Order: sequence, then C-alpha cells, then structure tokens
Amino acid sequence: MTIEENKNNVYQAVKAACEKANRSSDEVNIIAVTKYVSSDIAEELVKTGIKHIAENRVDKFLDKYQALNNYDLTWHLIGTLQRRKVKDVINLVDYFHALDSVKLAEEIQKRANHTIKCFLQVNVSGEESKHGFSPEELDTVLDQIKNLDNICIVGLMTMAPIDADDQELDVIFSQTNELRKSIQEKKIKNVPCDQLSMGMSRDFDEAIQNGSTFVRIGSAFFKENGD
Ligand SMILES: *Cc1c(COP(=O)(O)O)cnc(C)c1O
Repeated sequence: MTIEENKNNVYQAVKAACEKANRSSDEVNIIAVTKYVSSDIAEELVKTGIKHIAENRVDKFLDKYQALNNYDLTWHLIGTLQRRKVKDVINLVDYFHALDSVKLAEEIQKRANHTIKCFLQVNVSGEESKHGFSPEELDTVLDQIKNLDNICIVGLMTMAPIDADDQELDVIFSQTNELRKSIQEKKIKNVPCDQLSMGMSRDFDEAIQNGSTFVRIGSAFFKENGD
C-alpha cells in the first residue's frame, strides 16, 4: 500500500464510523501521528492533504515542526511532557493532549505566550501503567487550573488498554464522554470541555461511536500491506 492509499482507507473508515454513529464527518478531526516515520515520509503524508499532525515526544515534535513549517498544519503534542521541556516546545503547540498534573499546568501557564488548548488526560480504565487523572481527582484539579489564563481545557483525552475488547472499549469511551459532559456543565470560563481526544488506529470506530472529536491515528497511515 502507498501512503496515499492508506490515507484514503483511513478517511473512508472514519467516514463510515461517523455514518454508523449518525454523526457528520466534519465533527471528527483526523490527527496523523508521525512518530514512526522520518520527516520525509511525514511530508509525503502531509502532501495528501492532512491538516492535523502529532508527535508524542518533544525532540521529534521539534524535528517535524522544522521540516514541515512551510505547510499550513495544526500541531498536536500528544505524549507525556516533562516540566523542564515545556519551555522548548509549548509555544509551537496548538493542542496539548496529555495534561496530567497541576504542576505541569502551572509550568505551561508560566512559559506560554498565548492560550494553549489542552486536553486533561484521564485514566478511566484504572490501568497502572497509564498516565492521567483519575475521574475522582478532576474536580480538585479543575479548581486549581481554572485561574490559569494561558490554559484552555478544550476536553478530555483517554487511551484504552491495548488488549481491551469491543465491550471494554465501549465502557471506557462512554464513561469518558459522560465525564466530559459533567465538566462542560460546570461552565467554567477557561474549561469549555466540548472536545474528546480518543481513538487510535485499532479503536477509532468505538471512539467515534462514543463522541470522539479528535482521533489520533498513526500506524494505519504507514502500514506496508494488509496488516
Ligand atoms: C502512537 C500514539 C497514537 C497512535 O497510535 P496508533 O495505534 O499507531 O494509531 C495515538 N496516541 C498516542 C498518545 C500515541 O502515543
């Protein structure tokens, strides 16, 4: 498969998932995660017309940003961010998907020169290996973040366990959407919380059925053949 064929397949599958969910495909933004490939290959994908691009590590984010800054792209940082690296990257980021501590939020507040759109990462599955806030913590966290005016909490991000079956995926993604709604209803000024970052190559269909508005897709764009 060429990258263009993979891209067309991904877009078709997202469209089909939206139809199944009775949603308009305009509601779902497809983010291309380029962490597996060089800047040259990422550029091949960008040329097929993708609009959103993501990396999970600061060094690779900066490489791709430099290589692709002639293109009109929205830039997403989707992985854990160490506090000492915030200053190197934050002002190049349009959306940060992995806000997982109040201390990190405070560092972003200090270093950002514009409002950064952030997703609170939540760990609804309770998997120990996963980053993110537990659902119980969120009220306290929001209380501490709501006065940081360089941060806008656009929504919640979650990652499902790698071995989750369809039913488990459904539970995790629908719980995340319920949490999102309950936060949105608080009507906190810098917390619109009307977006959901969930769904990767293997589980974007279930995520879209449960309201996802940003799917983060990597391997499906770059696979060589049917696998
Ligand atoms: C790698 C990565 C993805 C994409 O995963 P694929 O399974 O390759 O689609 C999505 N989100 C995060 C946070 C990632 O690190």
